[in-house]
Amino acid sequence: MTKKLLMGNEAMAHAALEAGVRVVAGYPGTPSSEIVETVARLHAAGKAHDVHVEWSTNEKAALEVLFGASLAGARGLFTCKQMGLNVASDALMSLNYVSVRGGLVLVVADDPGPISSQTEQDTRRFAAFAKVPVLDPATPEQAYAMVKEAFDLSERFHTPVIVRPTTRVDHASAFFDVQDETFALPAPEAGFERDVSTWIIFPRRAYEAHGEINERLPQMAHAFSTEAAFAQFNEVITACGDTPTFGIMAGGISAAYTREALRMVHQRAEAAGVDMPPYRFMQVGTPYPFPADAVAAFADGLGDVLVIEELDYVLEDALAAWAGRNRVSLTVHGKLTDEARDRGENDVDDIASRIERFLGLSGRIRLRLRESSEGESEQAGSPAPAVSPETLPVRPPVLCPGCPHRGAFYAVKQALRKTPAVMCGDIGCYTLGNAKPLEAIDTCLCMGAGITMAQGLSIVDPGKKAIAYVGDSTFFASGMTGLANAAYNGHDITVMVLDNATTAMTGSQPHPGTGITLMGDRNQPLSIEAVLTANGFTRVYHADPLDKDSSIVAVKAAVEFEGPSAVIFESPCIQLIKPKVPVVVNTEICTGCKKCITEIGCPAIAFDPSAQGMRSGDRGQAVIDAALCNGCDLCTQVCPFKAIVVPLSGSPAEGGQDA
Ligand code: SF4
Ligand code: SF4
Repeated sequence: MTKKLLMGNEAMAHAALEAGVRVVAGYPGTPSSEIVETVARLHAAGKAHDVHVEWSTNEKAALEVLFGASLAGARGLFTCKQMGLNVASDALMSLNYVSVRGGLVLVVADDPGPISSQTEQDTRRFAAFAKVPVLDPATPEQAYAMVKEAFDLSERFHTPVIVRPTTRVDHASAFFDVQDETFALPAPEAGFERDVSTWIIFPRRAYEAHGEINERLPQMAHAFSTEAAFAQFNEVITACGDTPTFGIMAGGISAAYTREALRMVHQRAEAAGVDMPPYRFMQVGTPYPFPADAVAAFADGLGDVLVIEELDYVLEDALAAWAGRNRVSLTVHGKLTDEARDRGENDVDDIASRIERFLGLSGRIRLRLRESSEGESEQAGSPAPAVSPETLPVRPPVLCPGCPHRGAFYAVKQALRKTPAVMCGDIGCYTLGNAKPLEAIDTCLCMGAGITMAQGLSIVDPGKKAIAYVGDSTFFASGMTGLANAAYNGHDITVMVLDNATTAMTGSQPHPGTGITLMGDRNQPLSIEAVLTANGFTRVYHADPLDKDSSIVAVKAAVEFEGPSAVIFESPCIQLIKPKVPVVVNTEICTGCKKCITEIGCPAIAFDPSAQGMRSGDRGQAVIDAALCNGCDLCTQVCPFKAIVVPLSGSPAEGGQDA
C-alpha cells in the first residue's frame, strides 16, 4: 500500500477498478471526465490491462454498451455530467425494468453554480424519477467508498446504482491508501444466458418489473439505515445536550460545509460567551430511497429542522413527506422557506450565518462581539479599521488566441454581410462565438440541437438564412439524426462543422472522427463528409478557417444553395499543435483603426493609446502580446493596411518590420 494524493474523480476510478470493474464507458463532460481518463491511463500503464475503457459516441451509447456487458455478467462503470444523463435516460428508464446482472454503477456528476453547464438539474431528482438508488458523497473519501459499495448494492438488488458527486467532490483531492496501483483482474464473467422472460421488456414483463422495483426500494432504504456499509453515510450527531429540539440535515458537499460551519458557529459562540442550544446533525448520503429509519432516529424529539443542500430541495421534500406520512410534528426550514440558497453553490460562511439565525444566535453573538470589540477599542484608543474585500475584475470566457473557430465565425459573418440570418450554436468551445466582437451565435440549447433548431427556424422564418454550427465531437454525439431530418424534410439550412480534430472543451478527448480509441487502438476515422453525404447533403464544401478568403468563398457557395448544405472547417485545436512565431505590428504602417480588435477579438491583440506612428498620429496603435499570440495569421489577413506581419526569422521585436 502507498499513500497517494488523488482527485475525487481519480479516487472513484480506483474504487471501480478495486471492485473488479470490467467495462468503463462514458462521454466527456465537466466535472466528470477524469474518471474515464484515469482508467485509461492505468490501462495504458499496464495496471488495469483486462479492463475495456472507451469514450462512447454519446451517453446513451455508453450506457447501452455497459448494459450489454452487465447481461453477460460483467461489472460496468458509466460516467457523465448531469445533462449527459438526459441523453442516456431512455436506456436508463428501461434497463432498470429489465434489471441488471453484473453490477452497473453510474457516476453522474452534478454541477452546482453552474460552472460549466446549461442547467442546474439535480441527479437526485432524476434517480427518484427513474426509481434508481442514488448515493451522494460529501468528500472524495466518501465518493471512493460509495463507488465500491454501489457495485455490491447493484448486484444484490439487480438495480443500476447512481453515485452523484458534485464539482467540488470531483475536483478536490485527498490522500488514499492505494494498492500500488495494481488491480486484480476482474472475475471471469459467466457469459450471456438466454432468458426471454427477463431480458426482453414486453409490457407484461414491465408490469411485473415495476412491482419488483417497488418492492426492492424499501428494502434498500432499510439497508441504508441499518447496515454499517451504508449507515456510515447517514451519520447522526447530537451536540450540546441530550434533548435537542433543533435539527440540521445536510447532503452531498453541503454536509462537509455544514460540519465546518458548525465548528465556526461553536467558536463564535464561545468567543461571545453565548451558550449553544442542543442540536442534532444528520448527513444524508443516501437520499433515494430515503433512509426513513435513520431519519426517525434523527428526528426524535425535534421541533425544527434546517435542511442544507445544493441544487434542488430534495431532502427538504423527502423530510416533509416523511414527517407527514408518519404524523411527526416537524417544521422543515430550507430553500422553500427562503432560509437556504435556492440556487448555485453553498459556502461555509453563508451556512454558518444561516445556522446562527436558525438557532437564534445571530443577534446575541453579534451584540456580545460588538460589546467586547468596543471595549477592546476603547482600551486601545482607536477603532479597528474596517476591512473591505477586494473586488476582482470580471473576466468573461473567450476563444483562445489562435483558435481556428474565430476564423470560421469571421468568414461566415463576412460572407453573409447584410444577408439576414439566424445562427444556431451548440455545445462546445464555439458557443463563445456569441461574444463581441464576433457575435456569430444567436442560440444554444443542448448537444446537437443547433442543426435541428435551424430547421424549425427555416420553416417559420424563411426570410432569414438558417445557419447551424456544430463541433466535430458533437457532430458524432448528437448531430447525425438532425442531418437526416434536414435532408428527408428538405429543410434549407447550412451546417458549419467546426472540425478541430478533438473534443476540445472537456480536455481534448478523441472521438470517432479522430480514429484513435482510449485503448490506444487506431481505427479508420469516420469521415464527416461521408456522413453528411450519406445523410443526403449534396452540397458539402471544405475550408481552412485560418485562410480568410477561401473560407468566405466556401461559405458563400454553401449559403447560396437552397436546401441542406454544409461547410467543413478543418484546422486543429491549438492544444494539439506547436505554436508558430508570434506576429508583430509594424508601427510605421499601423493607422490605429482598431479593425484587428473590433473584427476578430483575439485576446493577444491589445491597443496602446499612447503609441504614436507616422500613420496613426496620436490615435494609438495595436500591439501584439507575444506571450499569447500563437501565430495563427488570421489578424494579418484582417488588417486592411497589412500592418500586422510575421517577423523575419530571428527578429520577433515589435516595430520596424517591413510588410
Ligand atoms: S494593426 Fe491594422 S487593423 Fe490593427 S489598428 Fe493597426 S492598422 Fe488597424
Ligand atoms: S496571429 Fe493574430 S489572431 Fe492569431 S493568435 Fe496572433 S494575434 Fe491572435
